[in-house]
Amino acid sequence: MQNRSDNPSMIQEKRTVEFRPNSRNLFFHILTACNLSCTHCYINRKQHGTATLDQATIESWLRIFSMRDRRKMETDEKRMLRDVEDTNVIFLGGEPTMNPALAAGIKAAREMGYASITVDTNGYLFHDILDRVSPDQVDYFSFSIDGSCSRVNDPIRGKGSFDICTSGIRKAVEKGFSVSAIFTCSAKNIHDLSNMPELLRSLGVTRFFIQVIGLRGKSASASGDRLQLSRSQWQDIVPEVAVQAARIGLHVTWPKVFLEPDEEFICAGVAAENFFLFPNGRVYTCPLCEDYPLHAYEICDGRLKARPPLNESQLFQLQIPEGCVMNRLFHPGNIDYDEKGMPKNRIACCMLKEELLPLN
Ligand code: SF4
Ligand code: SF4
Repeated sequence: MQNRSDNPSMIQEKRTVEFRPNSRNLFFHILTACNLSCTHCYINRKQHGTATLDQATIESWLRIFSMRDRRKMETDEKRMLRDVEDTNVIFLGGEPTMNPALAAGIKAAREMGYASITVDTNGYLFHDILDRVSPDQVDYFSFSIDGSCSRVNDPIRGKGSFDICTSGIRKAVEKGFSVSAIFTCSAKNIHDLSNMPELLRSLGVTRFFIQVIGLRGKSASASGDRLQLSRSQWQDIVPEVAVQAARIGLHVTWPKVFLEPDEEFICAGVAAENFFLFPNGRVYTCPLCEDYPLHAYEICDGRLKARPPLNESQLFQLQIPEGCVMNRLFHPGNIDYDEKGMPKNRIACCMLKEELLPLN
């Protein structure tokens, strides 16, 4: 009898995940503090402050983006938020479980009608979070893990973090939570990516998010950043591992990054409803802008307010042959051009993903 894992027809075709204009995603950073100091951490306390949001503030900010209470909003807030069918919240940090108000925030989000609730964690699971919420309140605990063993993971994420993270995953699975894993690929761990699917399956993980570091850059030698991957490293390895993971039953997602000539460029800042909310009240709609004071909105005195130009919103309107405007602005040396001065590849929106689903 043929094993499910041996049969490539047992996975669905690779597909690009379309932006969903009828769905809102709130990436809610409820603090910036963290017990780890990963080599690729993107948290920028200079831009986003050091505050730990209290329960009242978390609930107040959740209410702004929730569907149910939108009808009570001021008119100008309604102009900033589209009518959508559902809103998803992803609690982030720093390490969100270090915030003692996380459990209350999760319950409040559920009561406000959020369509899905995810907690991204480094696996340390502070404040007994698994005992304070239930699987019907949290859709996914998403664990960041950057290697299939401590030898690969720990130099990136910190000594002892592999054992603690995998132990956290086991505990979450045992308690009946759905668990996903996020692996950030860099030159330090891409060689280990192919070992991840089997590890994750053995741990009971069902979704696998492969992220990339520095892919928009050229090779490490050109940029001086030893974490970066070349385009060929990414394209030769990641899609193949994704197939391998889907064959053993994982739902796999990874960034699109490069557009084919016949593929349309779409900016999520224009076409989607993504909000990246930080503890100092800054609200971005593009994650590439987070290191700059280019946020389109901010929360002041509990109200969402649009910021005056120039901010990210005006930049999204620019149409350039390179594709993503922010990539062109912030990484100008990282795009390859042909002899006619045209970019060899357009860069997709960093929010555009590809996915493979196992067949049930
Ligand atoms: S766990 Fe996340 S927030 Fe903490 S240092 Fe690592 S990447 Fe940064
Ligand atoms: S990454 Fe580029 S394409 Fe995506 S939202 Fe930002 S500017 Fe738009």
